[in-house]
Parts: sequence; C-alpha cells; structure tokens
Amino acid sequence: MKFDKEIRNYIYGELVPPISGNYIDNYNPALGTVYSQIPDSDEKDVHRAVKAASRALPAWSRCGVNKRFRILTRIADIIEQNLDEFAKAEAIDTGKPFSVAKAIDITRAHSNIRFFATSILHFASESHHMESEAINYTLRRPIGVVGCISPWNLPLYLFTWKIAPALATGNCVVAKPSEMTPMTAYLLSKACIEAGLPPGVLNIVHGLGHKAGQAIVEHVGTKAISFTGGTETGKKIALTAATSFKKLSLELGGKNPNIIFGDCDFEKMMETTVKSSFNNQGQICLCGSRIFVERHLYEVFKTEFVERVRKLKIGDPFNAKTKQGAVVSKAHMDKVLSYVELAKSEGGTVLNGGEPARLRGKFKEGYFLKPTIIEGLPYDCRTNQEEIFGPVVTIMPFDTEEEVLLYANSTSFGLSATVWTENISRAQRMADQLDAGIVWINTWMTRDLRTPFGGMKNSGLGREGGLEALRFFTEPKNVCIKF
Ligand code: NDP
Repeated sequence: MKFDKEIRNYIYGELVPPISGNYIDNYNPALGTVYSQIPDSDEKDVHRAVKAASRALPAWSRCGVNKRFRILTRIADIIEQNLDEFAKAEAIDTGKPFSVAKAIDITRAHSNIRFFATSILHFASESHHMESEAINYTLRRPIGVVGCISPWNLPLYLFTWKIAPALATGNCVVAKPSEMTPMTAYLLSKACIEAGLPPGVLNIVHGLGHKAGQAIVEHVGTKAISFTGGTETGKKIALTAATSFKKLSLELGGKNPNIIFGDCDFEKMMETTVKSSFNNQGQICLCGSRIFVERHLYEVFKTEFVERVRKLKIGDPFNAKTKQGAVVSKAHMDKVLSYVELAKSEGGTVLNGGEPARLRGKFKEGYFLKPTIIEGLPYDCRTNQEEIFGPVVTIMPFDTEEEVLLYANSTSFGLSATVWTENISRAQRMADQLDAGIVWINTWMTRDLRTPFGGMKNSGLGREGGLEALRFFTEPKNVCIKF
C-alpha cells in the first residue's frame, strides 16, 4: 500500500477530490511537519456522498447477510495482510508508537470488521406468543443511510467499530474520520475497492468537524448518527440532530477513576496502572486519570509509580523501545500543558513531568510530553473534574469505601472505572455503586466485543458493541398475526 501525498474522498466507489478543490495540511506530530494534504470537504461533498449511499441502499439492504459477511471479511483480510502498512500510517498520523498501532489499533480494526461480519450471521430477533390469540415477531430492518463520525485518538479502531455494524446490518454509510488522523481511513477506502464493496455502500468524506461533520449531521438524508468524540461536540450534535429526530449513539469523554485498595495484587496493579495512565500518551477515553490509593499503601505506591513512570522511554514512534510517542497536535499539547499550570495554581505538586520532553535531531519540533503525575489536589477541583485527555494523572489517598465512592462519582462523566482488590465482596459492592458504563476489576482494557460499551452521565448516550450495535443500526418493527 502506498501513502499518497494527497488524500481523496471515497464516494460511490471512487477516490475523488473535494468539489471546492480546497485542502487542509496533515501533520506528522512526531516531527511537527506537514506530510500530506486532506480534502477540506463541505456540504456539497457530503450531499454527493449521501446521494451515492441512497443509490446503493436498495441493493445492499436486500442482498442478504451471506454476501455482506463475505465482503466485510475480505476487507478485514486485506487490512490484516497489510498490517504493517496500516500501522505505519497510524503511527505517522497520530505520533503513537508503531508497536501500539500494530498490536492495538490495527489488530482491533480488522477484528471489529470480522466480529460484526460474523455477528450478522447469528443475529436473531424476538417473538412474543399470546397464548391462543396471536403471535408477534420483530422484524429488524436497516435504518437507511447513516452517518459515522470518529475521533483522532484510536483512528481506524474507532472508525471500524461504527462502520462495521452499520454495514453488516445493511445500512449504507457516510463516514468522517478526524481531520487530524485521516490516513488509515483513506487506506480503508482502497481496501474496500480491492475487496469489491459495491459503490456507494461506504462513503468517506474527509474534512473539518464543524464543516463536513456538521453537514453529515444536518443532512436530511442521514437517518442516524453514531458519534465518538468530546462531550461538547456530542452536545452540539444532539442539538442539531434533535430537530430531525435522528437516532443517536454518542460515545463521549471520560474522567475515569482507578481505585486501588491495600489488599490488591501489588505487582499486577502497578504494571497495569502505568499502562492505564499513559498508554497512547494518556489519549484513550478509558485511561484512568484519577488514581485513588488506600492511605496505608499510598506512600509505597507513590514511590514505585514515580520510579516506573520516569523510566518510560519517550521518543521515535518507530523505535521498538519507545513507550511514549508524541501527542496528536501542537494545540493539544498546549491544552494539556495549560492543565498542568491549572493544577499547580490549584495547589498540586508535580511529581514527574509537567513539561515537554525536548528531543534532539529530527524530532526536536515534535509534540512530546513527559508523563505527568500530580498529587495534593482536592477531588473536586477543576483538574480532577475536567477531561485532560493527555499523559497527566493525579494521585490521592483515601480511607474508606464511602469516601472513595464519593470522590470517584463526583464528576459529570461516567465512562469507565477500575478497582484493584482481592476482596470479591468489596469488588462487587464497588462495581454496583460506581457511576460508570464499564467497571474493570483487577484489570484494564480487557475487551470482549460482545459486551455493551458506553458511558453514563455526560460520557454518552446508548451503547455500542455486540447486540447493542446491531440493534442500534436496525429499526424494529413488530408484526402481529392473529390466530
Ligand atoms: P471531537 O469531539 O473534537 O471530534 C470528534 C469528531 O467529531 C472528529 O471527527 C471531529 O472532526 C468531528 N466534529 C467536530 N465538530 C463537529 C460537529 N459540529 N459536527 C459533527 N462532527 C464534528 O473529539 P476529538 O477528536 O478531540 O477526540 C477526543 C475526545 O473523544 C475526548 O473527549 C475523548 O474522551 C473522546 N473519546 C471517547 C471515546 C468513547 O468511546 N467514549 C473513545 C475515544 C475518544 P475534526 O477532527 O475535524 O474536528
């Protein structure tokens, strides 16, 4: 696979330039330089994509699950066969280590497609028998043309997580990846052409959120929107979609607690906590950015955690030893640093990091940050309430379960939570009372694609994954037959 300097939209099976002829710079965050151009698409491109999807819909929605299974599986195979090329593109676009892109992002992307390609073969709907009177059964038909909009942190991973169930259930899609990380979505469009996906079934429009993204949400032809991104953007999308009663799935921000009890398996907890804090430079919506440690373990934890984090190698995403790559953009780096300043003004002490990592040679203009640990902050200050979405965690001691539940549930978010304890009764009590759509006990990021995925409170609306996604992308219709 070749990395083109000029990315194109994928509409009705062809790679086409934007109608306006305008492009946006695409940066390599590890170098801080522009390396390709992406279409600055607008409502005209979106309209063309929706028209293409509408044309493809009758045949795709009626072609039968076996055909959809075969084509989707072929797309997954092509991604897997080109794992290194896709991972290279993802690492260049995002700044993340190549090893992470390969093991996590791209591996999960082809697994997502394969998972939904096979799920549709087993998807069944309910029937309700009214004794001797009648029988009801539920028909589940595709919604129509749907919009899928995804963020920059796990680009192909999250893009395919939406597109695959939408296509498997017989919808046609108009999708937009983040303008900051478009390359793997572009490679996906080439894979779809190679796999023989009929023209118009999937259309990928590149461009800015407030322009191309907004146009997808506003278009009368899109009947549902599946969005992953920030809570503020989610709010805007919900307001826009409300006027036309579009079906909505919103996967939004998080400020996840990582709760560590004194009776945990210390080594397992420590190894995982370094990852749950700083994997992908802390730019995973599921990262545990608020770490609460039972007081009698606090000092031991702090010393060990700081020592291990200090050793994380920062630098070249293509060096196999690198654990921390660049953050996605200069603007994002500045935002994260502004939160470190806020934390200091709120009384926090920086135990590690808190500043850019100055690299030499070709990486000297790259957006590298030292992994940052802050202590001494109250649970309800802004640093502990707002999403930073970077390599920054706070650590705090607690004494009782009631106290830590108050801290953990104090934010407006409710995406995920992690609890470390060997006491199963306590684990169950915590899982029951935490405001989170996903609770991990003695683990983090262990994902079974069949489980419901999503957040409570301002972390989202609806659930993705398994049956939830198949249900979201279908319209249930009850048919009642009187005996
Ligand atoms: P944004 O909300 O800024 O953007 C997400 C996507 O929406 C991008 O493609 C963006 O385009 C687009 N967009 C922006 N404005 C609009 C609009 N008005 N209408 C339609 N689309 C729009 O999020 P980020 O990309 O910055 O991603 C980080 C956020 O995503 C964090 O808050 C993180 O927690 C959340 N997230 C949530 C996950 C979950 O599963 N709950 C998983 C991963 C991330 P553009 O890039 O061009 O602006």
